[in-house]
Amino acid sequence: MGLTIGVDIGGTKIAAGVVDESGTILETSTVPTPPTPEGVVDAIAAAVRTVGAGASAEAVGIGAAGYVDDKRATVLFAPNIKWRHEALKDKIEQRVELPVVVENDANAAAWGEYRFGAGRGHDDVVCITLGTGLGGGIILGGRLHRGRFGVAGEFGHIRMVPDGLLCGCGSQGCWEQYASGRALVRYARQRAAADPERAEALLGLGDGTPEGIEGKHISEAARAGDPVAVDSFRELARWAGAGLADLASLFDPSAFIVGGGVSDEGDLVLEPIRKSYRRWLVGARYRPHAQVVAARLGGRAGLVGAADLARQG
Ligand SMILES: [Zn+2]
Repeated sequence: MGLTIGVDIGGTKIAAGVVDESGTILETSTVPTPPTPEGVVDAIAAAVRTVGAGASAEAVGIGAAGYVDDKRATVLFAPNIKWRHEALKDKIEQRVELPVVVENDANAAAWGEYRFGAGRGHDDVVCITLGTGLGGGIILGGRLHRGRFGVAGEFGHIRMVPDGLLCGCGSQGCWEQYASGRALVRYARQRAAADPERAEALLGLGDGTPEGIEGKHISEAARAGDPVAVDSFRELARWAGAGLADLASLFDPSAFIVGGGVSDEGDLVLEPIRKSYRRWLVGARYRPHAQVVAARLGGRAGLVGAADLARQG
């Protein structure tokens, strides 16, 4: 199969792109994400038709945030779009007249990195995406591990801290409450409130209050060596690395790929993650260590991965 179309459904925009066999995006079309669940379906179909017109694409892969069933057809539950048992495959196939595959967005991104990014050359890869929350994807023996019911790799809601912080999912102490973009902001705000003098530079990037500190301010300050911002990244990295050590016990991969906005900071966050990973890895002195590397495809991973999964059929 030659060209396929990948779709990435974001909170603010839906992107569709024609992708070739080497993972290169040839053409894209973006539309704003509509507010209603039905509107999103229409917008996906419109984006696919726009980008597909003139290109001889043979299939469509859609990455969606949420639980996707084992037939890769129905979104069982999407927290942000309010899809409940949404028959997305059927609805899009009717509108675009191409075969459609639906995949969890973090799985699609993991597949993209495995095929064309930081996971190339590895057969066993575990990806974590540190975005607003924490997503995950598992490749074992060169295959995407989806689980019996299609919902494997939801690492963000592993309970890391018994009776810990309340999570949006209703549980307490979930990993993403400690290792995610949202957690990073919380760490920085807490530090700024506790010691405003030390956080003066960081506070100055926002409106001067701890609540005014946002992720972009923490990144900017950390790059300039600001101690409060660097500490906040290290706190996040400690939790991320400790979780990866647990995942090594489960999956024993040769590489962990860390993606999402937080990973844009490179070794500033990767190095403390590696350190924490080695600290908590059981029997660390007596076993081979998986690499912990930054994702390479950035925001393109989900679209490229979804397109390639559609190509695989
Ligand atoms: Zn949770």
